Amino acid sequence: MSMRRILPLLVLALLLAPATAEARGRLGAGISIGKGGVRLSAILGFRTHRHTSCCAVITRPGYWRLEAVTVFQPGHYETIHVPARFETRYDSCGNPFQVLVEPACTRQIWVEGRPVIERQRVWVAPVTEYACGY
Ligand SMILES: [Zn+2]
Repeated sequence: MSMRRILPLLVLALLLAPATAEARGRLGAGISIGKGGVRLSAILGFRTHRHTSCCAVITRPGYWRLEAVTVFQPGHYETIHVPARFETRYDSCGNPFQVLVEPACTRQIWVEGRPVIERQRVWVAPVTEYACGY
């Protein structure tokens, strides 16, 4: 049978097969060099499969997975502690001593909103599939 007759049949079979069963295609090409000269070959084919009671069903259970998620943290006020500030001075004899310039205190500062990376638990749903691979 020539390629011109086979090609429309292959196209028709490829169009009809997926509607009723799972199909897997295969496409390949090759070159062989021998005494007779250079030979080109091509492979075009597909297999179909219908699930039956022999096809075992495998269910992989769901699970929790830790995932890095970027969350926008809104702007807010923070209370910070400002330590006391001392200054070294010298008396008339040249001995150093500390003088309190500014006492310790707390201040409210505004922190701008920014994106923060957090780790969150994400549920991965269970998967049910056939063991036959289709
Ligand atoms: Zn099957």
